[in-house]
Amino acid sequence: MAVLSRVLRLRVAGVDRFAVRSFRSSSSSWRNSEIDPKAAAASQQLGEKALPLQRDVKDRNVQWVFLGCPGVGKGTYASKLSTLLGVPHIATGDLVRDELSSSGPLAKQLEEVVNQGKLVSDEIIINLLSKRLEASSAKGETGFILDGFPRTIRQAEILEGVTEIDLVINLKLREEALLAKCLGRRICSECGGNYNVASIDIKAEEGDPGMYMAPLLPPPLCTSKLISRSDDTEEVVKRRLRIYNEMSQPVEEFYRSRGKLLEFDLPGGIPESWPKLLRALNLEDHDDKESAAA
Ligand SMILES: [Zn+2]
Repeated sequence: MAVLSRVLRLRVAGVDRFAVRSFRSSSSSWRNSEIDPKAAAASQQLGEKALPLQRDVKDRNVQWVFLGCPGVGKGTYASKLSTLLGVPHIATGDLVRDELSSSGPLAKQLEEVVNQGKLVSDEIIINLLSKRLEASSAKGETGFILDGFPRTIRQAEILEGVTEIDLVINLKLREEALLAKCLGRRICSECGGNYNVASIDIKAEEGDPGMYMAPLLPPPLCTSKLISRSDDTEEVVKRRLRIYNEMSQPVEEFYRSRGKLLEFDLPGGIPESWPKLLRALNLEDHDDKESAAA
């Protein structure tokens, strides 16, 4: 039990360390044209063919990476897309946890690292990832969506040697919304459920679109038992975001220079963002359509 709680702590720390990127906009041609009127106009001038993803989903070998700062909802979107596209969602935090609970060759080594409170090295992560990708292809799975990796240039370079990445989706959320979301996180002390009490309603201003994000409220039984993470204070969250930005910019630049970076500004919560993300990726969610039509 002690080991498990150490693992979970490491996982949380690991996710935060792995997950640092920026909300700075860029002039990349991959920029989210849904949100930025200038980019939208430019993309219209270039015509539909300017979008790099024109192949049919079925012909496409999806080898994607998700970047995004802590709290942006990267795991949620990566997971929804992996379900939609039928490719595995590979989160490095899960790889570490799975290995630890197995009797795999790295479990002992990992346990030592975790017990000493150290960060898992690039080598171990790459090792676990390669193993996971091999297992995938042995099972006949094609493609993947990576979540939480690469977090450094070095990892990006190693990854380039291991497999080809064809698209890197950089999820961004305006800082005031991100901050509110991080500060609104609550956990039920009894059942462990994750909720968010932040109701974000930013009014549109000159040149700035408004933004609405609904809270994720707990069922009545949990309401009186909500607690927040001790490190979800404004100061800590801001520091986490600053560190994230510093770490992530070189990784973004690495993929931007290769023409693989898609900047996506989340326009709100999942109901607002999901359809726009799909459009930016030239994808359709038939389930969503059916449920909307029903
Ligand atoms: Zn509960």
